Amino acid sequence: MAEYIEKSEIYRRYFNNGCGVVRLHVSDIDVIPAADVAPVVHGRWIDNGIPGSMLSGCSECGFTCGAYSFKYCPNCGAKMDKEEV
Ligand SMILES: [Zn+2]
Repeated sequence: MAEYIEKSEIYRRYFNNGCGVVRLHVSDIDVIPAADVAPVVHGRWIDNGIPGSMLSGCSECGFTCGAYSFKYCPNCGAKMDKEEV
């Protein structure tokens, strides 16, 4: 799984918060704790399968709601920018 490093952590450790550059060595990267980030899930609003329903479902988790007012699924957090296939 991919790991991420916060930019602020790099600045803090290796640029001394803007007060001078400290040399960064490749092995230092393992010392920096991985940032707690979740990968972005992309989804789209799909027909929820209920005839006549005004609601839409999340393509990723199936959560049903009045979807078009949301850019993200309120249930799973998927970003609703996936192209229709
Ligand atoms: Zn969802």
